[in-house]
Amino acid sequence: TDTADTARTGSGGETGATGNAELTRRWQGALMDNYGTPRLPVTHGEGARLWDADGKEYLDFVGGIAVNALGTGHPAVVRAVSDQIATLGHVSNLFVAEPPVALAERLLRLFDRPGRVFFSNSGAEAVEAAFKIGRCTGRTHMVATEGGFHGRTMGALALTGQAAKRDPFLPLPGEVTHVPYGDADALRTAVTEETALVIVEPIQGENGVVVPPEGYLAAAREITAATGTLLVLDEVQTGIGRTGHWFACQAQGVRPDVVTLAKGLGGGLPIGATIAFDGAAELLTPGRHGTTFGGNPVACAAALAVLDTIEDDGILDHVKRVGGRLRDSVRALGHPLIDRVRGAGLLLGIVLTEPVAPQVQKAAQDAGFLVNACAPDVVRLAPPLIVGEAEVDALVRSLPAVLDAVDGTRRAGD
Ligand code: PMP
Repeated sequence: TDTADTARTGSGGETGATGNAELTRRWQGALMDNYGTPRLPVTHGEGARLWDADGKEYLDFVGGIAVNALGTGHPAVVRAVSDQIATLGHVSNLFVAEPPVALAERLLRLFDRPGRVFFSNSGAEAVEAAFKIGRCTGRTHMVATEGGFHGRTMGALALTGQAAKRDPFLPLPGEVTHVPYGDADALRTAVTEETALVIVEPIQGENGVVVPPEGYLAAAREITAATGTLLVLDEVQTGIGRTGHWFACQAQGVRPDVVTLAKGLGGGLPIGATIAFDGAAELLTPGRHGTTFGGNPVACAAALAVLDTIEDDGILDHVKRVGGRLRDSVRALGHPLIDRVRGAGLLLGIVLTEPVAPQVQKAAQDAGFLVNACAPDVVRLAPPLIVGEAEVDALVRSLPAVLDAVDGTRRAGD
């Protein structure tokens, strides 16, 4: 047999030399265990499908956690990356290449506003740059939301509103007040003329796909405008078509001062972006920030291919249609373990009536579907934006049996 093929399918034959058990044993001896949960060894993918190291096929409703906008191996991304790495793989930011310039222009055009973009390599770094922009206002106080997630580096963690992630690292930088998410009155009370920035996710992704009440972002805009405070919208998870709009804030007509992006932007390549609009674009003056890899031409070329494909293939409309179909048909199951389904586009949370999301994740995996337990009682679905109706329908058809298996186990264990 073809060796490449053998490696891809993980069919190290009956010995299982490259199979799930062997890769699991090896990662446990070599990689830090950041999450303390089992990890499925994955060898390759195609579109919205992935294969594990034993050769088993899955439909992928995790999508690298809202990263693989176009799925795995999209020809436009493959072509852009391979052309760019062959032409100019990297150049220091002491120089400038076409792809970061074109990508920045393109992002500003999508917002239809003047501004400037700082490129980095991840969501946390995009938030760190926003943090520093806030400090350049001369104010030090910041307001963020309880349950909010903005990354694991120290500045981003200071803004993150989840005690379990913060507590081991106190004291964190800055003076940050956390207010209940979705509560405009609490925001109004916390924000003063001393507040540098307010950072909000349009939908709290990591916290369990929590959707704020209608008008919350508009209220945040009005409150921050009144005190001369920067409104930073963290669209790392909600941006780049995830909700069926280019950016979630656009669905509500809210114009932030700063937007952070990452995840779906690079179609699988690491890239973060901090976009500062109007006056906010001038705050981070020369000498105050920088990075070696930010604006890497290959990552930017991949991002341009992602944006082109979303536009050319009408993917925003597709996300609205297929996301609506997924949400409605999961709701229509009326299963006793399902409390409700929330979210927008292809960022959906199935809220369970019991804290059994990890068990649902495992049962779904056994059935050939990858989903993510992002809270004890929330199963998150964030598949590639190109996921098809047939693939969505396949998940929905399998869910009753998956949930019954968990429900049965739970009752048996009562
Ligand atoms: N902000 C939000 C809203 C996120 O969802 C995440 C990642 N889950 C981050 C920031 C951090 O991104 P990264 O993991 O790339 O640092």
